[in-house]
Amino acid sequence: MPTETFEFQVEARQLLQLMIHSVYSNKDVFLRELVSNASDALDKLRLAALRDDALDADTADPHIEIALDADARTLTVRDNGIGMSYDEVGKLIGTIANSGTADFLRELKEAQDASGAEGLIGQFGVGFYSGFMVADEMTLLTRRAGEDTGTRWSSRGEGTYTLEKVDDAPQGTSVTLHLKPADPDNQLHDYTSDRTIKQIVKRYSDFITWPIRLVPQRGEGPAEGDGDGEGGSGPETLNSMKALWARPRDEVSDDEYHELYKHVSHDWRDPLETIRLQAEGTFEYQALLFLPAHAPHDLFTRDAARGLQLYVKRVLIMDDCEALLPPYLRFVKGVVDAQDLSLNVSREILQQDRHIRMIQRRLTKKVLSSLKEMKTKEPADFASFWREFGAVLKEGLLGDADNQDALLAVATFATTHSDDEPATLAQYVERAKDGQDAVYYMTGESREALESSPHLEAFRARGIEVLLLTDPVDELWVDAVGEFDGKRLRSVAKGEIDLDPQDGEQGDEQREKQAEEYAGLLGWMKERLGEDVKDVRLSSRLTVSPACVVSDAHDLTPALENMYRAMGQ
Ligand code: ADP
Ligand code: MG
Repeated sequence: MPTETFEFQVEARQLLQLMIHSVYSNKDVFLRELVSNASDALDKLRLAALRDDALDADTADPHIEIALDADARTLTVRDNGIGMSYDEVGKLIGTIANSGTADFLRELKEAQDASGAEGLIGQFGVGFYSGFMVADEMTLLTRRAGEDTGTRWSSRGEGTYTLEKVDDAPQGTSVTLHLKPADPDNQLHDYTSDRTIKQIVKRYSDFITWPIRLVPQRGEGPAEGDGDGEGGSGPETLNSMKALWARPRDEVSDDEYHELYKHVSHDWRDPLETIRLQAEGTFEYQALLFLPAHAPHDLFTRDAARGLQLYVKRVLIMDDCEALLPPYLRFVKGVVDAQDLSLNVSREILQQDRHIRMIQRRLTKKVLSSLKEMKTKEPADFASFWREFGAVLKEGLLGDADNQDALLAVATFATTHSDDEPATLAQYVERAKDGQDAVYYMTGESREALESSPHLEAFRARGIEVLLLTDPVDELWVDAVGEFDGKRLRSVAKGEIDLDPQDGEQGDEQREKQAEEYAGLLGWMKERLGEDVKDVRLSSRLTVSPACVVSDAHDLTPALENMYRAMGQ
């Protein structure tokens, strides 16, 4: 069959260049990525076989194999998982489907220092390509479960790759790296050494739930030690396969938790926070949740995959289980392992399931209480968390009445009180003036735009604090929440605001007199502005500016109109 040559998509080529001239100093992690893909492929095969009785697949001994050949200088990672079809190889390996990639490459160029670039790489699914950090050529041989024909993909990581159909490929995927010469000065270790590979697997992939076996090299017995209990020269299993969430807390290191996070999230960076939960009683389950350190690029993309991995007694049954957390916690990653769920539940059933709803309630409370604790004990971490995810968390104020108090306990907002210290509503109320019966806020595009607005003048002049809200969701939650600690949430840009109620009758009289005095002018202005405005009136809002535009208390603000329009409403 003919071998066809294809060009990498431009973005893919750029990423490959980055890998080859690696900006990433720790090159060992290429193995973690290949093992992680193999493990995903075995998970997918299990799920596919579970859903489709007719699938003609071999599911007898799912495992991952690593084979080394010091003479040929190759390393092969093999799995007997789901495999890929010819078209899938072209699509999944030849291109980078992620729409954020262009953004990513721009950011990468801006991140002058290598550590910034290192941090950025993780989010874009460059897992497979990381092989080119250590190899000058990669070959992939694969056959999709249930199909007859296999595919061979090969590339030197430069501009092109080749594809070829193969008749006798085993089910699953094997990836063979032709290794660059070892160069310890550059953290390029000898990846044909059994010892090195064992250490790397132990360090990064110990928790993988499928056996990872090291195939003895030609002419060698199994590396000394226990073997696989099979005796003779059989392969040795390198990982313990122990589920981290089922092990006692003090037995698991932070590093181990972090590696699990990287596997489930496909992020290369450490998480900000690890949250454990063990529920006992009639419905038992364990959860291991992670708060990422950085928001993914698709946080506000509608169809982005999200959710936790759902296991039943150590067996993965669903990859992106959304029902386990409310949408406003969609950035949380991790694993839930339940004892008593059916192995073949569907997404639809899960949405309705009483136990799942119970888990969701409990996990939500746990995440919120962890955030509260972080806010007190690790204020810098919390500040960074809020910068990344605050806008999402505030969505919770719209619908989740049960957790409104817990959300408001951690929600912080920019305020005129300080340039860099955001405030909670409680802090605002504590500082409020005697007799002030409202929490004042203003919404807009940016802090700068808000601060130069004439609406703030009177508040500034009187030393009244105003919250400066710049996320689109702010328009919505302030209405949903309505009041805090007996004080109404009021926009400084909406309706009539009487900032000096204490001047009583005298003030009223004065205002009436002024209204009479200016009646002619106001009438003339109303006529001139015609349909463009509803009313023209005197204001106590301003100290410097001559006039400002005010919305009716119930009008949509411009930002909100835009948001609704973007949502197609
Ligand atoms: P990610 O794992 O984050 O999706 P990768 O670059 O590691 O990104 O892999 C890209 C895609 O290629 C995977 O999502 C998967 O669909 C496919 N793939 C990679 N390795 C394998 C494998 N061993 N078996 C089946 N599919 C694979
Ligand atoms: Mg991967």
